[in-house]
Amino acid sequence: MKKPSLTEACQCSSLTCDGAMGTQLIQLGMQLDECGMLWNAERPDDIKSVHQAYRSAGCRLITTNSFGGSRSMLERHGLGGKVAEWNRRAAQLAGEVAGPDGWVIGDVGPFGDFLEPLGDTTPEELEAIFREQISALVEGGADAILVETMSDPAELCVGIQAARSVTELPVIATYAFQKSAGEYRTMMGTKVAAAITAAYDAGASIAGANCGTDLSLADYLELAKEIVAAADGRPTILQPNAGAPRQVGAEVHYDATPADMAELTSQLRALGISIVGGCCGTSPAHLAAMAKV
Ligand SMILES: [Zn+2]
Repeated sequence: MKKPSLTEACQCSSLTCDGAMGTQLIQLGMQLDECGMLWNAERPDDIKSVHQAYRSAGCRLITTNSFGGSRSMLERHGLGGKVAEWNRRAAQLAGEVAGPDGWVIGDVGPFGDFLEPLGDTTPEELEAIFREQISALVEGGADAILVETMSDPAELCVGIQAARSVTELPVIATYAFQKSAGEYRTMMGTKVAAAITAAYDAGASIAGANCGTDLSLADYLELAKEIVAAADGRPTILQPNAGAPRQVGAEVHYDATPADMAELTSQLRALGISIVGGCCGTSPAHLAAMAKV
């Protein structure tokens, strides 16, 4: 039997995406200044063990380890020539774990700079950067593309266009929102309704939020209401952090328990969020509690 497309599936049931990759890799010994993409080549079994932990927890959407996999991000480590190989590999590793009723979500994070006029990059140059990464994720077997943690709607829209130019696969688009003066906005100042509408208009099949700066669990609920209203019946996604981060010395702690996240998940489902997952500070234990809801 052919697997339904992700967009079809999330219109008829609620789905659970996975949680943080970075947090898990740090626990496995990754250094903060290390290139996480390198692990796709040198420590594939560790990458697969994280995917497997989330898959076993009940997550059907498995996100590739390719957040920093664009040429612009890899060049910071002098590894710009590895875009095709490592993104393909990232998708293959997730595919080996996702199984017949899971989906491989090809992850694309911010390119690491600003578009013109704040930065030097033109939209055409950025589209080429994203297209290179997304093509490799598709070749490696991605079932959908996720353009995530975006603070600039223009960058997010270029990412969606890049995906649309190389594949028919569904595109999921998520912003990192922050709260300022009682309102949720991207770092660039765009409010939720405008940001979410821009994502669908650019061709996203599923839109929403992940991460976020200093947002509490109650904030994520408020944010979800605005996302669902802006989506107007189209599929939505929310991947909250495990509560607001708390700085303890050099470390960042996230305090929400699996039970807290399960409670949040049931509230998000009730509001109509189609796909719930986790971002910073979430672990397979959190996702197992969330997937049960
Ligand atoms: Zn995060």
